[in-house]
Amino acid sequence: MPYELNDKIKSIDPYEPEPGSYRVRLDANESFLPPSDKVREAIRTAVDTIHFKRYPDPLAAELCAAAAAYYGVNAANVTAGNGSDELISVIFNAFVQKGDKIVTFAPDFSMYPFYGRLAECPVLTLPKRQDFNIDLAAAADTVNSENAGLVIFSNPCNPTSVGIPSGEIVRLIQSVRALVVLDEAYMDFYGDSLTARVEEFDNLIVLRTVSKAMGMAGIRLGFAVANPALTAAIRAAKSPYNVNAVTQAIGRAVFSDTDGIRHAVTLIKASRDMLLGELNRISKEIPGSLKPVAADANFVYTQAEEAECLFEALKKSGIIVRRFGNCLRITAGRNLENVELINAVERFYTSNR
Ligand SMILES: *Cc1c(COP(=O)(O)O)cnc(C)c1O
Repeated sequence: MPYELNDKIKSIDPYEPEPGSYRVRLDANESFLPPSDKVREAIRTAVDTIHFKRYPDPLAAELCAAAAAYYGVNAANVTAGNGSDELISVIFNAFVQKGDKIVTFAPDFSMYPFYGRLAECPVLTLPKRQDFNIDLAAAADTVNSENAGLVIFSNPCNPTSVGIPSGEIVRLIQSVRALVVLDEAYMDFYGDSLTARVEEFDNLIVLRTVSKAMGMAGIRLGFAVANPALTAAIRAAKSPYNVNAVTQAIGRAVFSDTDGIRHAVTLIKASRDMLLGELNRISKEIPGSLKPVAADANFVYTQAEEAECLFEALKKSGIIVRRFGNCLRITAGRNLENVELINAVERFYTSNR
């Protein structure tokens, strides 16, 4: 009998980052800054203490304590993951059962429907308003009337870069029976976090990561922050050695330089504001070209006339961004990278009409 793939794995669309090498990579919302000298030094010291022949601490206790101090919570509120991506998968496998409904929004992070499908849960995707805001009161009604088990969204949102004030999210958390998974991957840039308030809620898990503001996407490290009961469940459901010893050691070093993190966030926000300002200028000088959205994260989202042609033209000049239909998401880069991007966009719209 030939082996046959089941339907869910047959129909899964793998997450495929843009292949190929580009001079200017503004497609993955990474930081453009290297780790600070202080962090580099702390990493060298930490790596020397690793017991390579031993399995790592299954609960990454020292790392979670360092993260907890940074996020203003207790270590009993924190679970470390192999990227927050892994934690989304763990949470979807542990807190919903096959057939339970998961609610998310569009546009939002593409991995939510991906993991939802693998967990065999129908994913209800509620459209956002034209300005990319969410009517959270209406969403809460839908979550309850559909008897959904889980609602997940990013704040600020990837890909729109739009932030939602924490007060609105608190109202949602308090008015639904579902578990709310609040993905704060970009919260370092927005500064209206609910991470430190997880003890107030019995249905909130907040996700954080070192991949974006802290410039550490390569070590694969994220955190789930929740009350102790939810934390115990997440820890029980994860694989035992999910965060390797090298990442645990480097992760502790990252949290040792809080001034450095703050400084990096300031520089990245300045780059984002420069990028947004220039894209806004182009949208005024060349009517009908771009329509950038006010940005709260480290990237800018904009509607773009002839988005696909523009995307291809950028690639030809060695610049990669992300395209979502007629919109582009552009990560804030180094000054020269931003300038190259802006010149290429301007060139496209002036030579094209
Ligand atoms: C980048 C990103 C993540 C993934 O973070 P990792 O910790 O690198 O897995 C999670 N959520 C959103 C919305 C992101 O954009």
